[in-house]
Amino acid sequence: MYFIANWKMYGNLSSINTVKNVINLTKKTKFKKIKIIYCPPYTLLRPLIKKLRKSKIQVGAQNCHTDNKFGAYTGSVNAKMIKSVGGKFVIIGHSENRQAGDTNFLINLKIKSAIKQKLNIIFCIGESLRENKKKKTNIILRNQIKIGLNNIKNIDKIIFAYEPLWSIGTGIIPNSKDLKNRIKVIRNFIKKNYKIKNPRILYGGSVNPDNIVSLNKIPSLNGFLVGGASQDSKKFIDIIKKSIN
Ligand code: PEP
Repeated sequence: MYFIANWKMYGNLSSINTVKNVINLTKKTKFKKIKIIYCPPYTLLRPLIKKLRKSKIQVGAQNCHTDNKFGAYTGSVNAKMIKSVGGKFVIIGHSENRQAGDTNFLINLKIKSAIKQKLNIIFCIGESLRENKKKKTNIILRNQIKIGLNNIKNIDKIIFAYEPLWSIGTGIIPNSKDLKNRIKVIRNFIKKNYKIKNPRILYGGSVNPDNIVSLNKIPSLNGFLVGGASQDSKKFIDIIKKSIN
């Protein structure tokens, strides 16, 4: 099971101390096999990596530039830079970045640059409320995967995260039947088109300690991408504990 903490644009230097309790949790036998990945803002990558050095918890960034070379791109950070500070993962295609201009084409370039740097990728896909209501979800998801992975042969390093836009930060989650079907559609599409036996697929969108029990009833999920609730280590631990029995 994967538990990815997306801190978004939250956190200052003192926030990294909150991971202490999560480190302690991973030392318990029952939780040794789970994979926890923290994705803090760029400013906290290095301090968090240092803090987690002796633990099994890994760290990644929330986005990267398309270009692997240094360049005149004010405010941007590329995959090579993430790797150079010890980052092992990068989230690509998050809806908050799609809304800020990341097209499927740009996402494809970002995935390629991250693969070049041997980073693991958390590839986010998801439909808007409008697309969902128009029953276009499956077409949208297949399209996001198809263009995002265009000309990419080795997808071993990719973890997929299904995150419906209407669920992120809203407190609303899809009903179990719909979510189960969606994961099945995504899984079948990946298996058929990318020759991968067991794609890792996570769910993300308003995961919290209250709804995690019902989300866990979907056995085909390989874990969760947690935004808001991951910034509070108590809630994050609660989510993990309720997922691992
Ligand atoms: C996210 O940022 O990917 C996310 C799922 O956010 P939240 O859990 O806050 O909905």
